[in-house]
Amino acid sequence: MESLRELYQEVILDHNRKPRNFGKLDDANCCANGYNPLCGDELTLYVKLAGDTITGVRFSGKGCAISTASASLMTEALLGKTKTQAEALFEAVHAMLTDAKAPVTDIGKLQVLAGVHEFPARVKCATLAWHTLKSALCNQSATVSTE
Ligand code: ZN
Repeated sequence: MESLRELYQEVILDHNRKPRNFGKLDDANCCANGYNPLCGDELTLYVKLAGDTITGVRFSGKGCAISTASASLMTEALLGKTKTQAEALFEAVHAMLTDAKAPVTDIGKLQVLAGVHEFPARVKCATLAWHTLKSALCNQSATVSTE
């Protein structure tokens, strides 16, 4: 377990320092805002869908290390996925973050987010980007809140 914990901290810190796919996506055709009032995390997610495939995804906003790292990891994982695959990924990550007994699915690098379990107050920081994704894919432009 020690190594997963170290990996978790390393990956979170790295993605917080150098968030991947950070900034506005000018030709996005889906977009949503997310807000986590408990921590003050805010993010805007930009998704470009070509047919059913995510060909572009970026995020902007301001939040704690965990919300930023989770959004950064998410954008990396989403590129090239179909809407259906993205929704399956949402379900898998959400289950992993909120239910310790959830069956382990193969979600690659996103597995490090399981480390958030050690900081229950931070689960909403980690799920924020994912809820925002769901809202963007459903074409709901309203702001989602974790509360
Ligand atoms: Zn946070």
